[in-house]
Amino acid sequence: MKAVRFVEVGKPAEIVDLPQPKPGPGQVLVKIGGAGVCHSDLHVMDEDLGLKGPFTLGHENAGWIAGIGQGVHGWKEGDPVAVYGPWGCGHCHTCQTSAENYCENHASLGTMGGGLGSDGGMAEYMLVPSPRLLVPLGTLDPAIAAPLSDAALTPYHAIKTALPLLTPNTHVVVIGIGGLGHMAVQILGALCAATVIAGDIDDNKLAHARELGVRHTVNTRDGDAAAEAIRKITGVRGAVLALDFVGAQPTIDLCTRVVERNSRITVVGLGGGTLHYSANNPPYGCAVTIPYWGSRTELMEVIALAAAGRIHPQVEKFSLGEAVAVYQRLRDGKIKGRAVLVP
Ligand code: NAD
Ligand code: ZN
Ligand code: ZN
Repeated sequence: MKAVRFVEVGKPAEIVDLPQPKPGPGQVLVKIGGAGVCHSDLHVMDEDLGLKGPFTLGHENAGWIAGIGQGVHGWKEGDPVAVYGPWGCGHCHTCQTSAENYCENHASLGTMGGGLGSDGGMAEYMLVPSPRLLVPLGTLDPAIAAPLSDAALTPYHAIKTALPLLTPNTHVVVIGIGGLGHMAVQILGALCAATVIAGDIDDNKLAHARELGVRHTVNTRDGDAAAEAIRKITGVRGAVLALDFVGAQPTIDLCTRVVERNSRITVVGLGGGTLHYSANNPPYGCAVTIPYWGSRTELMEVIALAAAGRIHPQVEKFSLGEAVAVYQRLRDGKIKGRAVLVP
């Protein structure tokens, strides 16, 4: 079968032929219907995140069960599933609460999940080590639903934990309207009545935010002008939440300038910026959070939101053979919503 592989840091992905895997005891084979192309893959290929290649990329996957290992019960071939991405040990206290994204034994696992240390879903088939990592998809199309398992789950987790702040008379700033950000503005619309202000350096991404119902958009290329424009919208109260899906120095700095007291800055993007602290900057009472991905239970909630028609991943489909070109398009900011590879 064809597979898109990470080889080593500094090298582009390679497309190779691999034997189709067979499910061993306790494992499940998934025929991939869609594998999302996440910006994190660019970080994996460009920077040393401590992941050792080679392995098949693709950590945002959905498809159909195609093989069941010995001892796996309750699933049958053909069932449509999303693959829960952050693979924990499965037995620590935190994993038992379904939050494998915060597994207590993560450091000793040697992998962060399929496509992040282990073989992922940018292939015709993917081996999932345990049925506990599968979530039923119902009637959703796997090619459209694949981004739910990261591009939607990650912002969902970040927003859900901030919900008590998001009363109807508040403002939320969302920076970076790409794969994660375009889902974040929809999730905010579905979960709360706070007013959303979308920021990006690319006017096409801001136009996309407006298509998704966001009323206020601000080009953030000039940080001073952006802070002033956002402040004009929020008034003296500032934003109660700034969600940064870039995490670069200019965006983190912008976050600190648009929140007021008793607020929250949530940095999701891995853009390499630093949050500087000095007295009252960020303002007193401001919490800073750095969430990672989401829990399996939250993935079930995200799938329910999509099934109810409340959130819609905007998907551009490509073949496995186009993977290298698609990564370049993502790097150049040319993907609207999420690119998904369909084998
Ligand atoms: P993406 O490439 O689809 O979108 C990024 C968006 O940010 C684009 O719209 C781009 O125009 C915009 N942008 C880039 N630089 C900017 C700047 N300086 N100011 C304002 N906007 C800017 O990326 P994605 O797949 O949505 O991922 C976003 C980030 O989140 C990546 O760093 C990724 O690694 C990270 N991520 C983190 C987690 C987590 O759990 N913490 C999970 C998934 C992804
Ligand atoms: Zn990702
Ligand atoms: Zn664990």
